[in-house]
Amino acid sequence: MQLSNRLQVPARTIMTPGPVEVDPRVLQAMSSSILGQFDPSFTSLMNETMNQLRKVLQTENHWAFPVDGTSRAGIEAMLCSVLEVGDKVLIPSFGRFGGLLTEIAERCGAEIHSIHCEWGSVFDPAEVISEIKNVRPKVVAMVHGDTSTGRMQPLEEIGHACRELDVLLIVDAVATVAGTEVKTDEWKIDGLITGTQKCLSVPAGMAPLTYNDRIEAILLERKSIEKGLVTDQQASNNHRKIRSNYLDLSQLQDYWSPARLNHHTEATTMLYGLYEGLRLILEEGLDQRFKRHRLNERALVRGIEAMGLSLFGDPHHKLPTVTCVNIPEGVDGDSVRSMLLEEFGIEIASSFGPLHGKIWRIGTMGYSCQQRNVLLTLASLEAVLLRHKVKLNVGEGVQAALDVYQSKERIESV
Ligand SMILES: *Cc1c(COP(=O)(O)O)cnc(C)c1O
Repeated sequence: MQLSNRLQVPARTIMTPGPVEVDPRVLQAMSSSILGQFDPSFTSLMNETMNQLRKVLQTENHWAFPVDGTSRAGIEAMLCSVLEVGDKVLIPSFGRFGGLLTEIAERCGAEIHSIHCEWGSVFDPAEVISEIKNVRPKVVAMVHGDTSTGRMQPLEEIGHACRELDVLLIVDAVATVAGTEVKTDEWKIDGLITGTQKCLSVPAGMAPLTYNDRIEAILLERKSIEKGLVTDQQASNNHRKIRSNYLDLSQLQDYWSPARLNHHTEATTMLYGLYEGLRLILEEGLDQRFKRHRLNERALVRGIEAMGLSLFGDPHHKLPTVTCVNIPEGVDGDSVRSMLLEEFGIEIASSFGPLHGKIWRIGTMGYSCQQRNVLLTLASLEAVLLRHKVKLNVGEGVQAALDVYQSKERIESV
């Protein structure tokens, strides 16, 4: 029998909106021995992970824990645990991931009300608030930073309006947590989901989330149906049960509580990675981490513009962790990306739907968000574009980025 080759993984510089590079300390943590999921050494790690998560998510919520699976498992857990058949949900969508919220909410049997804005822009909060007053939904589900268009939606006003109108706000903050400010409590977000492989800089495979007691009340009520406590109306209430077992937050929170009620087998190795990743974030400090993301974003943006390329989308609502670059006319965007990967070992992303072939997306997230990576990307992109016969301001991209790194701006921002 012919054996396959031993695992060989090429070295890469990853400048996409995820998955991104991971600090060696996280990889090292993930090579630790397996612990049983009820081993006290492991359960104390679970508790400590919850503590760290509350700090990173800027919340006092009791519940803050990861769901096993990628980010969308967290989104699905939140939506299917909260939404019942026929519930009204308002989804203001400004990119592909608004579409994901819609697709998941639909499968929960919710009555969907969507509003859209042009890709590359975001909503005026007043427009969303007036739609909330129109529709009177149970839930508003929104993306904070949509990586497909590189835009970030201001949420604070919407959050306060939701609270006043007694509507729940559920937010996909997969692309923003640990890369830019996300204030769960201050912005009155009731349920928030993130993912590991973006700015948390941990491999894909867990979806940390948090929710407050407004959401917990719904979970407990639906769980009492599950247990048959609401006996008189049980038959007519059966359709209100949470449809998923794996993603049922009412069961998951029992596993993350001191009761440790058995549910699934925890992904212990992933938890080591998340634990260490969160520790790295808190060691760096949230403010410092956001400044680092802003500095590298600025250097990248200045470099791209100095080279003679242009940026896509409304600059006032740019997502700081993703930079969208217009592909110059007549250039095959995928050919440029392939050459970057094959010749330089650098990966950047294309985009989806109406933007496919029109923009490249360059991520500056987590461990990938560093000076070395930004300078290498600018220099390599220039070289590849010259090979594709694009007219550029040769040499100016890297110089402009260096100016940012060596200037007063750096001192002020770091
Ligand atoms: C990447 C991303 C997701 C999807 O995450 P998966 O981990 O692939 O399930 C969801 N929302 C946003 C905003 C993202 O950027």
